Amino acid sequence: MRREIFSEEHDLFRDQVRRFAEREIEPRVAEWNERGRVDRAIWRRLGEEGLLGANQPVEYGGAGGDFLYDAIVIEEVARVRAHGLAASLHSDICLPYIVSYGSEEQKGSYVPRAIRGELILGIAMTEPGTGSDLAAVQTTARRDGDQYVINGSKMFISNGQIGDLFIVVAKTDPTANPPHRGISLILVEATSPGFVRGRNLRKLGLKGQDTSELFFEDCRVPAANLLGAQEGLGFKQLMQKLQQERLVVAVGSIASCHRSLEDTMRYVSERHAFGKPIAHFQNTQFKLAELATEVEIGQAFVDKLLAAHVRGDDVVTEVSMAKWWTTELQKRLTGQCLQLHGGYGFMMEYPIAGDYADAAVQSIYAGSNEIMKVIIARRLGLGG
Ligand SMILES: Cc1cc2nc3c(=O)[nH]c(=O)nc-3n(C[C@H](O)[C@H](O)[C@H](O)COP(=O)(O)OP(=O)(O)OC[C@H]3O[C@@H](n4cnc5c(N)ncnc54)[C@H](O)[C@@H]3O)c2cc1C
Repeated sequence: MRREIFSEEHDLFRDQVRRFAEREIEPRVAEWNERGRVDRAIWRRLGEEGLLGANQPVEYGGAGGDFLYDAIVIEEVARVRAHGLAASLHSDICLPYIVSYGSEEQKGSYVPRAIRGELILGIAMTEPGTGSDLAAVQTTARRDGDQYVINGSKMFISNGQIGDLFIVVAKTDPTANPPHRGISLILVEATSPGFVRGRNLRKLGLKGQDTSELFFEDCRVPAANLLGAQEGLGFKQLMQKLQQERLVVAVGSIASCHRSLEDTMRYVSERHAFGKPIAHFQNTQFKLAELATEVEIGQAFVDKLLAAHVRGDDVVTEVSMAKWWTTELQKRLTGQCLQLHGGYGFMMEYPIAGDYADAAVQSIYAGSNEIMKVIIARRLGLGG
């Protein structure tokens, strides 16, 4: 079905992004998956093509477009299965914190370089002992003169090996009650003394993503690296940015579903059993008819949310619904598409195997799907 949210300019931009993704990203995905990280050169190329700051302010080198441009980048990167390339984490999740809460000095120093792809961003919230319960983070940032001294460890941090600047969630007041009032966001450059990269973690999927441990061992950064006017605003800042973070996942999820479905349609038309293409079995037809229906429904919902997000509406409840629903669909869809591939579906030469593995994490990160339902229930007035 024709999508109605995009203008002619958006369509032209998509053509540009698709050509770039097919020419410069897709051929490298296998190598990145093998190496467990993407190369830095691609970030520079993304920057040169204007794909890292499409939605960022012009004064810092962005294109000043609406969020639909970023959504196009997310969709086209997902279409070529470059799930290890955390460009949307960088542009749509990390950059907005600096643009919204950063001082003029912070913005001037970091945003233009990030948009050019010279400075790779990450966000370090999760710790070995806590993920969903962010208020329980143990990492501390103690003020010492005109510096913060940070101690603690972080877990599962995307861009952990290649990142240059991390937004670190730390307690500036570990005694605050309630605990979330003691949380602050602090910018930590990877060159800071006491910043230590840990292992690049071995994972089920997202093989090209350098998801890592990070350690802060008396890590010293200037006190001016605090994000926001005062300490203790971190939790509120995180909550304010979650709508976009979850929308990013839903957009990528539906785009990935389209690709898995497309490839499966082709496979079932080519593969024969009992003298005919397996596409001719009613089971194959019904399965794919059902999945195609759900993808259309999911796309319609996501497009409605994209339009609302661009308008600036509060759609936290609906975005939480989309995040859990689209990612559960993606997991189910990749499982059923894999089944339709038979034994070949289990072989890594067939992209559906990677799709299946990559889908698994979608319901876990960016707020687990259970946390999405907690939020929805609370916003429905169910208490707790
Ligand atoms: C590939 C990958 C990349 C990641 N990238 C980043 C990153 O860049 N930065 C970052 O900070 N983190 C990142 N994460 C971490 C991710 O956000 C967390 O894994 C996620 O938030 C869940 O936290 P947890 O793993 O501690 O699970 P837990 O919080 O321990 O949860 C375990 C289970 O309990 C459930 N649960 C928890 N609380 C409740 C509740 N109140 N009600 C019902 N069920 C509940 C959860 O839904 C889950 O099923 C990444 C993770 C992965 C796997």
